[in-house]
Amino acid sequence: RHAELVAGWTGPGQTADGIAVSVLANVADGSSARAAAGHPVEGVGLFRTELAFLERADEPSVDEQAAIYREVLDAFDGQKVVIRTLDAGSDKPLRFVTHPDESNPALGVRGDRIALAHPEIRAHQLDAIARAAADSDVAPWVMAPMIASPAEARAFAAEVRGRGLVAGVMIEVPAAAILAEAVLAEVDFVSIGTNDLTQYTMAADRMSADLAGLTDPWQPAVLSLIAGVAAAGVRQGKPVGVCGEAAADPNLACVLVGLGVTSLSSAPAAAAAVGARLGEVTAQDCRAAADAALATSDPAAAREAAAAVLDRSV
Ligand code: PEP
Ligand code: MG
Repeated sequence: RHAELVAGWTGPGQTADGIAVSVLANVADGSSARAAAGHPVEGVGLFRTELAFLERADEPSVDEQAAIYREVLDAFDGQKVVIRTLDAGSDKPLRFVTHPDESNPALGVRGDRIALAHPEIRAHQLDAIARAAADSDVAPWVMAPMIASPAEARAFAAEVRGRGLVAGVMIEVPAAAILAEAVLAEVDFVSIGTNDLTQYTMAADRMSADLAGLTDPWQPAVLSLIAGVAAAGVRQGKPVGVCGEAAADPNLACVLVGLGVTSLSSAPAAAAAVGARLGEVTAQDCRAAADAALATSDPAAAREAAAAVLDRSV
């Protein structure tokens, strides 16, 4: 029965009792956005712009960037699109910005930190996004990766709002999760990047197969940080999304919703399973599953505790 539900799920995302949860796609460029639009998603929760420029030796011009951003907006006409500014560095080096010999690239000049040495690269990108938005029906939301402090969030938001766009930041550095209340006060929305938030919280490389147990998205320490961010979002009435691959796990998606998360974005192929699962449970079930997972101290126990609550309710 569940398999049929997944196959037939067409959205929009909501719990069995009708609480809306946007089910969104992570995309990399125009062609992946057009492919994503063939899945039952309500928009783009994460456009990883750096992936469009991995082959480039030089910074693409504003016109060239605007054309690429426009393709993604066009694929989701009238829907939600969240564009992330360049997250160059670490696992995604870009030749025109990334320092080639950092001793510890995951802790180096990556993400929004490139604006320290190259504020013009961030400014050109925001100009290009504004240009793409100007001739589109989509008013994109724009967010920065690797924000570590409220001051960084404030500086980024000023640049984005100065161009008439909606400003947010990713919460993927533990410091930003710990000070989520103050970070949220500076922006219009946040999106939790669970891949990096887990990597940095557990001090375990997300690329290491040997450390997969530590980088398990059900780690209760990470769930606890997410709970704090989501609660701050609820208090301030600002949207809190999740755009890491944790949002692709149907039961974990329910837990995230139970914590107060309002949108879930992941690889588009995961959307139907996530949406179908959400439709089987109530918001109260999601809260109970979140409480059960948070009460554990290891990922296997968290997984089991949430499954026990959610399976009981269907
Ligand atoms: C994340 O860190 O969870 C995230 C969504 O961003 P990326 O995987 O591109 O680092
Ligand atoms: Mg990240």
